[in-house]
Formats: sequence, structure tokens, C-alpha cells
Amino acid sequence: MSVPLIEVRRVSKRFVKQLDLAGKIAQRLGSEIRDEVVHAVDKVDLAIKPGEVVGLVGESGCGKSTLGRMIAGILPATEGTVLFEGKETAAMTGAEQRAATLAVQMIFQDPFASLNPRMRVEQIIGEAPLVHGLVGRAGLSNYVDEILLKVGLDPALKRRYPHQFSGGQRQRIGIARALAVKPRFLVCDEAIAALDVSIQAQVLNLFMDLRQELDLTYLFISHDLSVVEHIADRVVIMYLGRVVETAPTEALFADPRHPYTQALLCEVPRLDQRKRDFTPVEGEIPSPLDPPTGCHFHPRCPFVMEQCRTAIPKLEGTGHERRMACHLGARAGAQSS
Ligand code: SF4
Repeated sequence: MSVPLIEVRRVSKRFVKQLDLAGKIAQRLGSEIRDEVVHAVDKVDLAIKPGEVVGLVGESGCGKSTLGRMIAGILPATEGTVLFEGKETAAMTGAEQRAATLAVQMIFQDPFASLNPRMRVEQIIGEAPLVHGLVGRAGLSNYVDEILLKVGLDPALKRRYPHQFSGGQRQRIGIARALAVKPRFLVCDEAIAALDVSIQAQVLNLFMDLRQELDLTYLFISHDLSVVEHIADRVVIMYLGRVVETAPTEALFADPRHPYTQALLCEVPRLDQRKRDFTPVEGEIPSPLDPPTGCHFHPRCPFVMEQCRTAIPKLEGTGHERRMACHLGARAGAQSS
């Protein structure tokens, strides 16, 4: 079995919201008041093989972007380890860390916010490869032209500023900037969510063409299952900081087993709707400041049992390459058929 390109083991991320002055005074006076802790990601394990496209799906606030940022090395984990090609990133030498940082790039939702408005496109794309010695000043112009062509943009436009491009073109510039440092792994965080529907398909196709051409591996983060259906080899479903189900894409859509996955699939419009006789998810995702005990999904789950309120379900195998965290276990599959 090949070594995963990226792996996280038991990674957690907590954000502490410090008390304001009034809170600190109240605490000094003996109040029980404490700093607020957001449990964004809770002991997640995930391994991504070279060449694989993994779709990471969940509602807004489930921790998927935070997990993506930890994988991309933008955010340190509170606990757990991140490995690149089997080696812990925290234990790498400086040179190894720099190589891993360049190999893993992130593409953001809002291309306009992530591009410096005062830099020309050629500077935006050329800056990092020049700094990291991937290209010399003499060859930089041609290098930028090649990358612009790869993402479907006319090199003649490279002296323009980001505001002179459409939303779809700006996202292509963001992709070009990431490609300029020759990455092997792209974390795409809601990378098409801000684009018009007509442009979304074009950018998704670009991602898939680049996968073939450059042998890329992707973590594709989205709140929308239908977006990942056509591009992901495997889907990982997150709920309130935890992975609740993971399965090959086709298997997950044909036979979703976790009650949350079943509820999410209700919201995906399909031609074969008669096969989707599940209950849509009710209510809002609870606050990560005070997550429910036991199974985080229990306040919204139509199959809730007593043990769900106290015991955390383990993420366990439920069939070929499938894992699920639910006390119903294999019985959840039976509910779906
Ligand atoms: Fe529902 Fe219980 Fe399964 Fe959680 S563990 S999804 S509450 S049945």
C-alpha cells in the first residue's frame, strides 16, 4: 500500500475566546465565568493517497475549512499530528518543511479577497516561484505565460490588475498562483462557491484537467454534496468537528449510511428521487462553543437512542472502504434501503 501523500492523525483545533474586561473582573470576584472555547475540529483521522481526490463535505461551521487549513499548514493543530509523505511536518528540517509548504497549496473561496489588488497578475503569479528559486528573473515572463495558458487565461492580460477580471477569471488567477510553485496537493476551500453557476462547471473541469496534466491530489472542501459528486473519488462527511462517514463517492451516493449523510443527500436534487426516502435534517447546527454530549448529531437525529446522548460513536468500518460513526452501525444501512 502506498504511503499517503497527506495524513492527519487525531488532529484537533480549539480556539479560545478570551474574556473581556468585565468578564475578567467578574472572574476575579469569584464568578464561575470562563474563557469560551470553540471546538472546531475534534480528533480527526484522515489519509489521502497520491492522485486521489477527496471531497470534504459538511454544513457551514462544521470545521471543514479549519481542517483544510491545518492540512495546508496555514493553521497549527492544537493536538495531533500532520504528516507529509509519511513524515511528521513538525519533525521536519527547515528545508523539508519548505518543500512540504510549497507542495501543499490552498485555493480560497473568494478570489478577489485573496489577490493583492495593487499587484499586477504577472507579479501575483511570479512572486513566489522567484522568491523560492523555481525560476530566474530572465525566465520569469515565459514561466508566467505558460501558467496562464495552463489555467485558460490569455498571457497578453498579465499586466492587468485583479479588478479588471471577472470572478471566474480571478479564480483562475488564484489557481495559477498556486500552480506557480509546482504543488502536488491542492486544498480547494469552497473554491467555486462564489462563482456563477455557469462558471462553476468550467472551473471544476479545469481542476480535473489539471489533475490529469500535473498529477495533482486534491482535498475539495464544499458545503454542497452535488459539487463533489462528479470530481471526488472519496467523500468525507463532517459534522461539528468530527468525521461521521467516509466512503467511495459512488457507494456513498448509492447507499448513504449515516443519518446525517442521508439527510444531506435529501437536499441534493436528483433524477432518481424515489430512492431518496430520507428525512431532511431539521434545525440548525449546534454551537461549537457548547457541542452536544455523546453523538454531536443526536439533537437532530431521527433515530436517536439513549446511548447516543452520552457515548461518542467511534468511526468504524461498515463495509468495503467505508467507515461510519453511529451507534446504529450496520443497522443504519438497513434504514436506508
Ligand atoms: Fe443518530 Fe445515534 Fe447514530 Fe448519532 S449515534 S447519528 S444520534 S443514531
